[in-house]
Order: sequence, then structure tokens, then C-alpha cells
Amino acid sequence: MILVTGGLGYIGSHTCVALAQAGYRLIIVDNLCNSKPSVLGRIRELAPDATIEFRHADLRDRAALESVFAAHAIGAVVHFAGLKAVGESVEKPLLYWDNNVGGTIALLEAMQRHGVRRIVFSSSATVYGAPEYLPYREEHPLRPESPYGRTKLVIEQLLADQSGSDPDFRYTCLRYFNPIGAHPSGRIGEDPRGIPNNLFPYLTQVASGRLAKLRVFGNDYPTPDGTGVRDYIHVMDLAAGHVTALRYLEERERSITANLGTGSGLSVLQVVTAFARLIGREVPYEFVSRRAGDIAAFWADASLAARELGWRAELGLDDMCRDAWRWQTQNPDGYA
Ligand code: NAD
Ligand code: UDP
Repeated sequence: MILVTGGLGYIGSHTCVALAQAGYRLIIVDNLCNSKPSVLGRIRELAPDATIEFRHADLRDRAALESVFAAHAIGAVVHFAGLKAVGESVEKPLLYWDNNVGGTIALLEAMQRHGVRRIVFSSSATVYGAPEYLPYREEHPLRPESPYGRTKLVIEQLLADQSGSDPDFRYTCLRYFNPIGAHPSGRIGEDPRGIPNNLFPYLTQVASGRLAKLRVFGNDYPTPDGTGVRDYIHVMDLAAGHVTALRYLEERERSITANLGTGSGLSVLQVVTAFARLIGREVPYEFVSRRAGDIAAFWADASLAARELGWRAELGLDDMCRDAWRWQTQNPDGYA
């Protein structure tokens, strides 16, 4: 059985469907701090024949975690649970260190007690910090610029230390670039609380009339059209990447840290234009000043994942726009 922490969240829910469809039995642990209980029903609806159990618990609740490990024969862990808002991490660093690092330590302790030695971890491109060159390769210097990014880097180091102490402990750190889009069914997708911080959920909510106008943060960056450039990756490709990473851990006797991106960058204006074309009308936007802490441009060198894992992103910007829009129109207020 696979333990999926944070499995009711945005990326976790899509990955649970992919894992279940690949034949894995799942036990999800989530404290629902950034997700809704109704996600579970949607995941089960998309993988009706699979075994998908759920335990409402916080990773830092050691007694609860112990009972999950005691009750299930867990073969590997896919670890999504964490807080992810960069701005909030600057205001509440203790919360981020406790939840992300503290939660991971509690998880690793339970894994050690129960002899579980395989883990796939959600890392982030934010571990790289200011680009010394682009695209980022995995050996690029690691200088995250926020408490959030530092928790991700420290967890990567923790996993390396753990595998140093136990040669049979193996991990994959997956450094995600910018996940967007939704399941093609429109049944699961991204459901941020309150006003979205990220470009894509903001854009789809403007298009649906829930928000008035997109604010494009900066049009004076040294990029082709002056707006920020990112490597947007379809969440379904990302989900597939986790199935591949888990198989890698089962089959190969080594750990790996790999970028999961498409390998090319798109500007904010390219995204807005493609989305407007797809929905067949203009999306109102205005240029405002740069957002503090934003990097002008970054994208992945995705060749290591292709070479070592045999994974590459298959879906393009039109798929991301179409699927995000289907999710938005079918669920205008997100999950019930
Ligand atoms: P999300 O907030 O939608 O999902 C995280 C889930 O973890 C939520 O359901 C939340 O309730 C749960 N959770 C948080 N802390 C927990 C705890 N202590 N115990 C139990 N459950 C807990 O986020 P997401 O976008 O699906 O991201 C998943 C992971 O990927 C996170 O670790 C995030 O840092 C990482 N990541 C996300 C992005 C992105 O852009 N979405 C990019 C890079 C990395
Ligand atoms: N962005 C924007 N308006 C928004 C949200 C984001 O112009 O309301 C820009 C942002 O400046 C960046 C890109 O969109 O260039 C992606 O931002 P997002 O917050 O989605 O991801 P991240 O900053 O984590 O890469």
C-alpha cells in the first residue's frame, strides 16, 4: 500500500487518481488545512475500482501517524503534505518550519520504526533561487529566497542524510516547476482559498467573472515581451511523473533528484493570450508594478527526468487552458 500525505490537495488528488489507475492501493493522510473532504469522493469517482482509504490527521500528530503505519502494510510514501504560500512563509516562518520540516521528521521517524524505505518528495524549483544560468539544471546552486523554499531544501538534505545512514533508504525529490490545469473530466482541480496568489487560478476566476481584472505583475522584465516567464506544466503530466518516480524506486537501487517541467518557458502575456483564444473572448488585464520577490524568468532543463526516469511532459498550453477552464466552469465555487 502507498501512503500519500497531503493527498487531498491539488497535486496530491491528481496523483492519487494516477496511482490508483496504475494499480496501487492507497492510504491518504491529510489534515484538511488546505483542502476539502469532498475531494475524496471525487478521487474515488475517478478510480472506482481502487482501494483508497483516508485518515484525517496531521503529520505532526505522532500517535495518529503511528496508528496509520501499524494498521497498513505500507510499501512506500508519496509526500505532498506541506504549506506552500511563499508570502505567508515570510510572515510565519515558524509555522512553515514546524509544519513542513517538523511534519517530515515525524513521517521519517514513523517510516524508520516500520521499516519503510521508499519516499517520493514534492520539492520545488524555488530551491534554486536567482538563476546563474537558464534553464536550471539539477546541479545549479541552491539558494532559496524564502522560508518556504528553505524548508524544501532542508527536507531534500534530510532525505539525503537519512539515505546516508541507511543504504537501503531511497528517495526521489521531484522539483516541480509551475503546475497548472486540471483533470480532463473537470471533477478535480485547483481550489485555492480566498483570492488566488497564482497566475492561473486568478486568470480563470477573472474569465468566469468572479474577479474583475488580472493584474500582470511587471512588464519591464528583461524577457521578450517584458512579462515574467515560467515553465508551466500540466498537473496530469506531473501526476504521471510520480507514478514513474515510484516505479523507479521499486526497480532501481538509487535515489534521484529531478526537475519536473516541460523544458520551456512561457510569458504571462503568452499564457493570457492562449487562454483568451481558447475561451473565445478577451480576459481583462492591466499592468501593475512587479511583485516583490519575483524572479524575471526561469524554466527547467528537463533532460535528467527524461534520461533517468523515462518521463517527459506530453501536454501543452492549450491542454492546460482547456482543462483548467473546464474545471472552473463546472465548479465555479470550487469544491462544495
Ligand atoms: P495543496 O495545499 O493543495 O496540498 C497540500 C495538502 O497537504 C493539503 O491538502 C493540506 O491540507 C495538506 N497538509 C498540509 N500540511 C499538512 C500536515 N501537517 N499534515 C497533514 N496534511 C497536511 O498544495 P499542492 O499545490 O497540491 O502542493 C503539494 C506539494 O507540492 C506541497 O508540498 C508543495 O509545497 C509542493 N509544490 C507545489 C507547487 C505548486 O505550485 N502547487 C510547486 C512546487 C512544489
Ligand atoms: N503573475 C501575475 N499576476 C498574478 C499572479 C502571477 O502577473 O495575479 C505572474 C507572476 O509575476 C509570475 C507568473 O505570473 O511571473 C507566475 O506566478 P505564480 O504566482 O503563478 O507562480 P510563481 O511565482 O510561484 O512562479
